[in-house]
Amino acid sequence: MVKTFSDLNLNTWLVRQCTVIGVKQPTPIQVNCIPEILKGKDCIGAAKTGSGKTLAFALPILQELCEDPYGIFALILTPTRELAYQIGDQFAVVGKPINLKCCIVVGGMDMVAQGQELAKKPHIVVATPGRLADHLESCNTFSLARIKYLVLDEADRLLGGHFDEQIKAIFKVLPKKRQNLFFSATITDTLEKLKEATGNDVFLYEAPAEVA
Ligand code: ADP
Ligand code: MG
Repeated sequence: MVKTFSDLNLNTWLVRQCTVIGVKQPTPIQVNCIPEILKGKDCIGAAKTGSGKTLAFALPILQELCEDPYGIFALILTPTRELAYQIGDQFAVVGKPINLKCCIVVGGMDMVAQGQELAKKPHIVVATPGRLADHLESCNTFSLARIKYLVLDEADRLLGGHFDEQIKAIFKVLPKKRQNLFFSATITDTLEKLKEATGNDVFLYEAPAEVA
């Protein structure tokens, strides 16, 4: 049976927003991951580029956010500026009816201005690890101690590589109790290890390999 966004336990306003942005039917990673994330589970989702991973985490986060909005609700880490802007755009478009405040924290922008934006307590922070770690190191104006969600977008590129030190510094200031959502093109050993480390109930989805 073909699933619709209404079948995924999403609120009416979110289903409507999907229609408004011209997204009609959920992709397989969205069908599989959204209901599990809404149940409160950690999630590791893998599917190739262009399969709709951003909405797979953005929709459930927005649903929870509108129930209980406070300070910085979710932190999304991604390896590049371009990806950070793309994710920020998708959040902004879908979150328009709830006046979502989203802050992009990437290199190439003024640190002081960025610090001021962070001090305004946006709901969502989308960051590259380097720039966020810089903010944590300087006299920072914000706290990540109460985030509810941590998303690692392109998690395979963020973990076990040259972002290690920055990721470690960021993890240090996050609350232990949080929902972890890791999305990636492939599930790597590092991701598997991370799954064991959280001690949470983890839902794992890997898109089936395509027949050539
Ligand atoms: P990924 O992160 O898996 O590479 P994205 O989340 O960036 O993919 O999505 C790629 C494009 O597909 C975006 O333009 C997005 O708006 C669009 N998209 C997402 N979900 C759907 C859907 N269910 N139906 C049609 N288009 C979608
Ligand atoms: Mg993506």
